[in-house]
Amino acid sequence: MLLLPATTVLAGEAAIEPTDNGTDVLQDTTVDADSRSSETSAEAEKLVEAVPAHEHLVPLADAVTTAEESQAAPLQLLGKDIMPGTAHRLSWSATELFEGVPVSTPVLAVNGALPGPTLCLTAAVHGDELNGIEIVRRVLHEIAPSKLSGAVIGIPIVNVQGFRRGSRYLPDRRDLNRYFPGNPNGSAAARIAYSLFNDLIAHCDALVDLHTGSFERSNLPQIRADLRNPDVVTLTQGFGSMVVLHSKPTVGTLRHAATLAGIPAVTVEAGGPSQLELAEVKHGVKGIETLLSTLGMVRKKRFWGDPEPVYYKSSWVRADNGGILLADVSLGSTVRKGDLLGTITDPMSNQRSELFSPYSGRIIGLARNQVVMPGFAAFHVGIQADDVIAEAKALGAAQKPGTGGYVDGMSE
Ligand SMILES: [Zn+2]
Repeated sequence: MLLLPATTVLAGEAAIEPTDNGTDVLQDTTVDADSRSSETSAEAEKLVEAVPAHEHLVPLADAVTTAEESQAAPLQLLGKDIMPGTAHRLSWSATELFEGVPVSTPVLAVNGALPGPTLCLTAAVHGDELNGIEIVRRVLHEIAPSKLSGAVIGIPIVNVQGFRRGSRYLPDRRDLNRYFPGNPNGSAAARIAYSLFNDLIAHCDALVDLHTGSFERSNLPQIRADLRNPDVVTLTQGFGSMVVLHSKPTVGTLRHAATLAGIPAVTVEAGGPSQLELAEVKHGVKGIETLLSTLGMVRKKRFWGDPEPVYYKSSWVRADNGGILLADVSLGSTVRKGDLLGTITDPMSNQRSELFSPYSGRIIGLARNQVVMPGFAAFHVGIQADDVIAEAKALGAAQKPGTGGYVDGMSE
């Protein structure tokens, strides 16, 4: 398993933090979650090195075939033994929460009758991101334990406190997704992260963390993955026909910590925050069910028209003027270089400016119609490319680990 040494990676990636005037925070356009909390990074807080609870010696792609001769074993999770061929609803709570009252959140666990890897699905690490919650629910309730090879663990609402308040953040405005793998003696965020990571994530052989766009932005369903890591590339290839963006994970994200611990992880982005979007939910469910099938954990039951993932480079188009942004394109639109993407009208002077696409490509993310300030990242244009994996690997090998460089092919 190709993994970068923890110390060097942790040291180098702080440069991803936004350095502009704060009108928007999409410095790295493909970070899991752009951060606007009172404390944007866990760098100030010493992170505990991620240590997996069990060995990950078998490559993910071979996990089912190499497991065939052995027997399915009970899955030990949160103090319970989940016998092969059964599904259970457990509850997880991090200790020492804000009010002193434990707040628990459901964990859905299916242990298959047949041996195989353990795939974990997490959602609502940002409490206002609802699509992933429904994706996890649909995937988990569709699985027949008697036919599953391996296990699937779903944690639909990781940030239950943010979820209750309709907020991206924890009650103290910290972004939980900057604190993994956590620290048992750190801030509340670091403690919650530590508990989740050690009680649940350490049992996974692979992880899919579900997110949506943030701050009134919406994303075409897409996978964000560090394509320098061969196990992560294997994971992206399992989803079928989905957009894949190379994205070096930000320090402190669940994706970063899991991959460091030897658990290949990707983020799936689908739709926008604070609403349930059925088309995006269905797309996400289909992608994960295809993954279960390509990993050999379930029998094939659905196919994409074109099962290949599509690799993209990308770039954000930003507003040059402030005002009311109205889009002329929608998510998934194909655009040509020079096409009108949207207009920004100053509500006082009635002056109108237009945003044009600098590239031919596809709209993979966009801001909802809203009032914007100059510099606001409005349209995310994806450019299909066959060489994204090779470029990521070449740059990953050429640079010192974690020293920036490759962001997403056309970094800002
Ligand atoms: Zn998120």
